[in-house]
Amino acid sequence: MMLLEAAGLETFYGASQALFGVDLAVGEGEVVALMGRNGMGKTTTIRSICGLNPPRAGTLSFAGSSLRGLRPHRVARLGIGLVPEGRRCFPNLTVEENLTAAARAGAWTHTRIETLFPRLAERRRQYADTLSGGEQQMLAVGRALMTNPKLLILDEATEGLAPVIRQDIWSSIRKLKEEGLAILVVDKTMSELLPVADRCVVLEKGTTVWSGLPEELSDDIRNRYLGV
Ligand code: ATP
Repeated sequence: MMLLEAAGLETFYGASQALFGVDLAVGEGEVVALMGRNGMGKTTTIRSICGLNPPRAGTLSFAGSSLRGLRPHRVARLGIGLVPEGRRCFPNLTVEENLTAAARAGAWTHTRIETLFPRLAERRRQYADTLSGGEQQMLAVGRALMTNPKLLILDEATEGLAPVIRQDIWSSIRKLKEEGLAILVVDKTMSELLPVADRCVVLEKGTTVWSGLPEELSDDIRNRYLGV
């Protein structure tokens, strides 16, 4: 059974339609890459799933129950952890307090987050706004994990980070994948994204135009929809 299933999603910003029919599925333990050029609807798709921009049409279900009409906190409680674009942490809380604020009972603890991101252990009592960009991103992932999600959604988690820090983020994603977490990931760097992806979904102008295995992404599809 698919964990997340979306079909025919249509989402608007006021009167302006951004999604015209997005189809997407993520299975248990699967890593799905959501791809497409700038402005094609990746972030809007994620916001639709999480209840931040509820779709006006389509079906959307998670672990067998509908997400349509659910507020964001309800979606989170069902087991979807979001790492939003722009890594939003509480700037005037410490690393530890940021993690505590997100915590819900389950397998993820401060210790486990600090094992995944040893840098966060070193910065435990530091305010989030004094962290480097990479450390803030690790904290944003840590916060999402503290909710004990069944599905983790990452929107541009490596954006603007130095190569060595990007590798830290990707290796944490690999570890989470090995532990069986389902992950939906948007990232501009295809050469880093494709090796971790089990499947790809490609958006063009708010519509799913292709989905398949990373090795099936032909030059034609890359040229037509991904601008490479
Ligand atoms: P990027 O990689 O640039 O973030 P994206 O694929 O995530 O792009 P979206 O941000 O989902 O694309 O944008 C999809 C469409 O919705 C675009 O046409 C965009 O201009 C529009 N859009 C996004 N946010 C808003 C908003 N707050 N108000 C109005 N239109 C918006």
